[in-house]
This record gives sequence, C-alpha cells and structure tokens, in this order.
Amino acid sequence: MDIKLRFLGAAQNVTGSCHLLEANGVRVLVDCGLYQERDFKKRNWEPFAEDPSTIDAVVLTHAHLDHCGLLPKLVKDGFEGPVFATEATADIAEIVMRDSAKIQSEDIAYKKRRHKKQGKSSPYPYEPLYRTEDVERVLPMVQPIRYGKEQKVGVGLTLKFLDAGHILGSSSVLFETTNHGSTRRILFSGDIGRWDTPILRDPELAEQADYVCIESTYGNRDHKDNSSIPDTLARVVKAAHKAGGNVVIPSFAIERTQELLYRLGELRAEGRIPEVPVYVDSPMAIRVTEVFKRHRELFDEETMDRIANGQHPCDFKGLSVTRKAAESKAINNQGGTSIIIAGSGMCTGGRIKHHIANNIERPESVILFVGYQANGTLGRHILQGAETVRLFGERHEVLARIEKVNGMSAHADRSELLRWLKGLQSAPKKVFVIHGEERATESFAQLVHDRLGWDAEVATYQQEVQLD
Ligand SMILES: [Zn+2]
Repeated sequence: MDIKLRFLGAAQNVTGSCHLLEANGVRVLVDCGLYQERDFKKRNWEPFAEDPSTIDAVVLTHAHLDHCGLLPKLVKDGFEGPVFATEATADIAEIVMRDSAKIQSEDIAYKKRRHKKQGKSSPYPYEPLYRTEDVERVLPMVQPIRYGKEQKVGVGLTLKFLDAGHILGSSSVLFETTNHGSTRRILFSGDIGRWDTPILRDPELAEQADYVCIESTYGNRDHKDNSSIPDTLARVVKAAHKAGGNVVIPSFAIERTQELLYRLGELRAEGRIPEVPVYVDSPMAIRVTEVFKRHRELFDEETMDRIANGQHPCDFKGLSVTRKAAESKAINNQGGTSIIIAGSGMCTGGRIKHHIANNIERPESVILFVGYQANGTLGRHILQGAETVRLFGERHEVLARIEKVNGMSAHADRSELLRWLKGLQSAPKKVFVIHGEERATESFAQLVHDRLGWDAEVATYQQEVQLD
C-alpha cells in the first residue's frame, strides 16, 4: 500500500492542527488550524510545508480556530479543492474565520500605531494573515457532509464523519483506502468531547481502524468531577442575588456559552435560582447560538425531550442578547442582579473587560470563571488572587468575589480518551499521539501501551511516516 502521513501542526503542541494523508496519490489535509500558543505563533507566517496547490482536498474536523483558522491562507496561497465538513462545522467555521480576519486587521492597526510610538519594529509583516475577502473565497468551496455518510475524496479513497461530541458539528474522520483488493482504514480522532454533557451527543466510537491519530490535550490527567456544576452555579447566583450584585461570567462563544444557557435554563425551570435577567453580551456567541437553533438534529436525547416539553436548550424567559455596543453599555445601568455572559473567555479582549471593570470593585458582585485560563491572561491573574488589576489604563481593586466552576471542559480527559480508543474491536497497527503538549503526548502514548498493549508513538512536528 502506498499510504503516507505527515504531521504538519499540533504535533508535540496543541494548536495549529494540520495533518497530511496521502493515499493512492490523493493528497488530503485534515484540518488547517491557526497557531495560538505564543511560542508557535510565528509558524502562522511561514509558508505551508506542502505546496497548497498540490493538495486535493481539506477535511475539517470542527470549527475551532486552531483547526480551521489557516484555511483562508491556504486558499490565498493556491489551494483549489473541496473542503469537506459537517454542515454545523461549516456554519460555525464561517463565523470563526470572519471573526479571525477582523481581529487580525484590528491587531495589525493597533500594533503599527504602538510600534511607531515606541520606535520598535515587528518580527511579523504589518499585514493580516488574510482578510475577509479571503474568507469569502473559502465559503463556496465547502461541501457539507452528513455524519455516517460515505464520501468519495478521490480514486480509491473515501471518508466518513463520526460525531466527536466536542462542539456542535465536531467529527472524528475515518478514511478508507483500497488498492489492488486490500483495504486500510485510517482514523483521525479530531478533538474528542466528554460523555454526558448537555446538548451534545456522546462521542461516537469507531469499530475498526488500522492506524489511529488521536488527540491528547488532557492525555496526562483526569478532569474533576462535573456533577457539582449545577450546585455551584445555583450557589453563586443565589449569593449574588442576596447581596444585590451581578454575576459576570467570561465565556467562550462556542459551546461553553450554550452549555451555560442550558444549565441556567434548567436551574430556573427547577426553581433553584431566582429569575434574574440573563444577558449574552457577545455578538459571536449570539451568532453561534443561532447555529445551534438551526441544528436540532444534532442534539442528544435529553435535549430533544426538553424541546418536546416546550423548552429550548439555549433560550428561556428573561434571556436577552445584546448585539450593539449601546445595548451592552445599558446593562450597567440596570439595578439589582443580572447574569452577564460575555467574551472573551480568558478576558483578553472583548466586552467582558468592560463588565469586569464595572463590577470588580463591588464586593456584592461575583466574577465566575467557567473555563481554562491560560498563563499570562487577565483571567488567570484574577483567578490567582490578584489584589489589583489594570483595565483600560486604570488600576482597579479586586473587591468582587472570585469563583470558579470546575469540570466544564469540551475535551475528553485521559480516561475518556482510553474509552474512545477501546471502541476499536481489535488493536490497530499503530496509534500516533498528536494534539497535546509534550508531557501529555508522551504520558498518553505510554498509557496506551501499558493499558491496551498497543503500539503507540508520539508524532513529531513535520515527521513523515509510510504506512503499510
Ligand atoms: Zn476543539
């Protein structure tokens, strides 16, 4: 068999997912993601390791920026083939890529001004990686494919999407290639979600694969128990209501916001929290929530039951969405308690910074963290107990209560990754561990070897392997 794999991104790191599969001379890229980790960002500017005009097709596992965010650049640099994705992935990826183009233009303008003032120069060109018009060239190339449907990619190569349960539309991809009567299956995990999370279905398991490329974001640890999430939410909201302050929640636009709405709606329906106004103050989160509303066919059983009972998973009485900046500002003049969900999720930009500035000196308000806060972000700073923070050039004392909900993660942990692998009925010839920081990948490869007795290795950046 003439099958080749080449790991072009998210190999010994977590962002910039991009892997080349070549079978029977058909060249397919699985994901084309943006690097977001500080140490790897400069790779976004480097030419692609494989000439984009020689790629026959791109397959998107899901719409997170680190999986689709370099696609407009790939097209700009000469890629002309189809882009296969589920319909929900296509819808959300459009929102994500447009947002990315906009942020890049704004960042460049800001950097240029700042550097001029400081007399500095930039290691990157003063040009965005791509613009909105480049995103618009990608859109007609996207071919939506249903889960479970076999799609021909080229001569002797097909693919099938399995629900990965990570975010709406997310997939694992099973490729099948046939040559002279023999068949090989190559499985890419994409990002794997968790079992028993609201709205989404559980990760779907593949039964057979000869080779597996599996993510390992949490390959070296298990999540904290998530059964306490509703209790924590209820406790925090009730306390803020009693004190007369707001609950300010920095949240990611995709999945986390919708999960919060689901959980808040449930707590209200059960009478466990007071019926205070809830605001989604993030244009991007509002657009993504609309995609959720269009794709009920992807919801899990509990969510469908809820709809049958007249409730929507991401909607309830008292929920307002604020698209315009003026509406966003008006939230501050609202007396009493409000729950304000806004981006960005790590408080690095966006409207959340205004809400934090307005509430952080109020002992009656709460800043509630519901997701991972990376090193060096304002979110991490607050969460670690900073006594003062700087926002919009002013120092603020941290007097609000700081709380955190544990266990809200879109990623499978170590045990769940193993559970996903165990869906395979027989040992694959090899497992390649990708999409994790070095310690996580190494630890997970070892775990696969020790627990399952399978041949597993860490894929290294730009490594090329021949499969038989
Ligand atoms: Zn993801």
